[in-house]
Amino acid sequence: MIPENEAKRVLLRQLPRTDRVSADPSLDEMRRELGVATVTALTRKALDQARDRALLTQVVPGADEIVAAVRASAESLSRSRARRVINATGVVLHTNLGRAPLSSAAVAALTDSAVGYTSIELDLSTGKRGRRGAFMENALCQLTGAEAALVVNNCAAAVLLVLSALARGKGVVVSRGELIEIGGGFRIPEVLERSGARMIEVGTTNKTRLRDYERALDENDDVAVLLRVHQTNFRQVGFVEQPDLAELAALARSRGVLLVKDLGGGALVDLAEQGLRGEPVVSSCVDAGVHVLCFSCDKVLGGPQGGAIVGERSLMSTVRRDPLTRAFRLGRLPMVALEATLASYLAGNLADIPALHAIRRPRAEVLARVEAWCSELAKRGVQAVPKPFGGAVGAGALAENAIDSVAAVIDVADPDAVAARLRAGTPPVMACIQGDALYFDARTVLPTEDDDLLTAITAAVT
Ligand SMILES: *Cc1c(COP(=O)(O)O)cnc(C)c1O
Repeated sequence: MIPENEAKRVLLRQLPRTDRVSADPSLDEMRRELGVATVTALTRKALDQARDRALLTQVVPGADEIVAAVRASAESLSRSRARRVINATGVVLHTNLGRAPLSSAAVAALTDSAVGYTSIELDLSTGKRGRRGAFMENALCQLTGAEAALVVNNCAAAVLLVLSALARGKGVVVSRGELIEIGGGFRIPEVLERSGARMIEVGTTNKTRLRDYERALDENDDVAVLLRVHQTNFRQVGFVEQPDLAELAALARSRGVLLVKDLGGGALVDLAEQGLRGEPVVSSCVDAGVHVLCFSCDKVLGGPQGGAIVGERSLMSTVRRDPLTRAFRLGRLPMVALEATLASYLAGNLADIPALHAIRRPRAEVLARVEAWCSELAKRGVQAVPKPFGGAVGAGALAENAIDSVAAVIDVADPDAVAARLRAGTPPVMACIQGDALYFDARTVLPTEDDDLLTAITAAVT
């Protein structure tokens, strides 16, 4: 009888050697992309699994099977890397696609800063240490009418920081209609708890009156903040009521507490002209008397990821001294991109900001582009027709406003399969599926992407 150990050895000897697998020609491309060491490490892992399986089943997988497993894990690693995507969804600020595309001025600033060194905390006139982010703060004050500003990593961080700095160990009054979840697990009650503040709920889901806030102030002597949270990603209609912002601000001021507003999206200009109502403009909230406001820099503002905090000078000094300010600080690259974006606002060049431009782009212009796509696709043997399409601002903003847009529509037998082929292309294309058709909205496709898009569609459909 063969001893058990000897049987094992005989079995495992049939496994291919590591270098034989990792040098397989079908892994050439992955070795170039990920490096030899990475492919070797993935090979060891695949061989370990093959060994375990062989001991369990007494069957040794063939070399081809193991090579295929290594290729699959290498390709999956490669695919997990962020890549440029053509956004034909019509959703201008698509959170899964990185929200706002940046202006060419922002891209130039990014490139300029990225390749070398930047006077990010240096005062060039004195040669001494300077104030980080001074320009973006000054620009935000100019554009919103606020006394002081600070920018951190994102709006979620801004809200946590402000509550922690201004209300830790104290009471925060918030309407039950505003205890919302923004997405990604960002829930107002949990953020309040984490900030160390005590939440005092008032009103009901649909109705909260000024009187409810007054009563909370009468009944609790530890209130520091009245918190107002913008209902960014949903709307209440019908039997609803909330005090207007100026009333609430007046109440806060008369009782010696602060009114803090989480705006989510930070519109620096009014988008009502584009039919997009319901997104408050930051400067009007400042005018209404709100003490401190938080808003995103990559939603309707159209910049890089960031969370702006604007408000009264003395309060902003308190916020700035909180240790979370340093922990949440904005990185150098988003900072220079934001400065360039804000400079476009200061100069009045709103058309330079791609997200704003996309939201404001006239329907006729989108239609003309879609018609041009359709006739080009016809030449390539693909039948597409222009149809009205409801685009969206996205990032939860302006929930009830669809943008009146136009899409090239292609009927296909299996839209999910075609969409998967489009996503697997280079560059990947994201479209919308409705019924048995694919919708490609021209509003969100960059002017330089027409050729790539039409080539991708032709390849995926035919
Ligand atoms: C989007 C949003 C946030 C989070 O903003 P980020 O910049 O994505 O962190 C917070 N509050 C509200 C009301 C929002 O709409």
